[in-house]
Amino acid sequence: PLVSDSEQLPFPVLCGKIHDRIAAFLEEKDMSPKLKQVQEQTRISLGVIEEALDRYSLPELSLAYNGGKDCLVLLILYLCALHTKGCSRAAPDTNEHPAIQCVYIQAPDPFAEVEEFVASSTRTYSLSLLEYAKPMKAAFADYLHDTPQVKAIFVGTRRTDPHGEHLTHFDRTDHGWPDFMRIHPVIDWHYVEIWTFIRHLNIPYCILYDRGYTSLGGTRDTHPNPALRKPLSTQGNVPNGTANGTTTPKFRPAYELIDDYEERLGRDK
Ligand code: FAD
Ligand code: MG
Ligand code: MG
Repeated sequence: PLVSDSEQLPFPVLCGKIHDRIAAFLEEKDMSPKLKQVQEQTRISLGVIEEALDRYSLPELSLAYNGGKDCLVLLILYLCALHTKGCSRAAPDTNEHPAIQCVYIQAPDPFAEVEEFVASSTRTYSLSLLEYAKPMKAAFADYLHDTPQVKAIFVGTRRTDPHGEHLTHFDRTDHGWPDFMRIHPVIDWHYVEIWTFIRHLNIPYCILYDRGYTSLGGTRDTHPNPALRKPLSTQGNVPNGTANGTTTPKFRPAYELIDDYEERLGRDK
């Protein structure tokens, strides 16, 4: 993998490793059209993140992180850009690396697998993650109260998400929301591009995606995506798809879905 969970790399080394891998990816030639698209998306997103690092100091920045694929891509690009901008180094006086502030809002009925991935990736990438268990607006009001220096938050929303249609790279929050700048570096990535990046760079991701979940919410409103259900004939002829004590998965993995608009077919309402 790009970085493995067991590896406890010093933060600047971690960012340097991610940076070098992405730089090599951007140099790769003779790519498929799909990978060329991802190279272009990567360049655009890194440009947005670097602009954010010009406009804001690190303590003023945070990332909304829920362990999902989109903010995972965003996180990796953020760590890459921290290296590029020379922001990953430890302070000479304290020898402590800068805090990578993140905020996670727990669903009322979270998946254990999501909780585990948030915890393991928080360790892997040395994140300073604060967690809230309340509705989003209230959670962000609390978050800004607890971290008053934060002025701008990276969000992994994409164009085809609800409310994503009119967003730009930098948008203040809407009326009625706690006031801060939202930064959307991956707004124009397509579903397939997200998965192509994650798989090409071998970035560990939440295991639910291998079980046919394509969009992660809470356990009550999230199911495997029906568009990924395998035809019955390939599921094995036994109840629950069990044969010889091994379970045959009934859904194909999330990365086999193509259509942006089918991503939420496993979500209620
Ligand atoms: P997802 O793909 O699940 O989420 C898109 C991105 O939102 C993720 O990549 C991640 O960065 C962030 N996110 C989603 N869920 C969580 C979570 N539980 N904890 C931490 N981060 C999460 N809506 C408005 O109408 N107006 C606003 O001004 C507005 N401001 C927002 C500011 C922030 C920082 C965030 C995180 C959300 C805001 N929203 C706002 C809500 C947003 O439009 C989505 O409804 C929300 O992010 C849920 O996303 P999703 O499930 O549609 O897609
Ligand atoms: Mg998403
Ligand atoms: Mg969501």
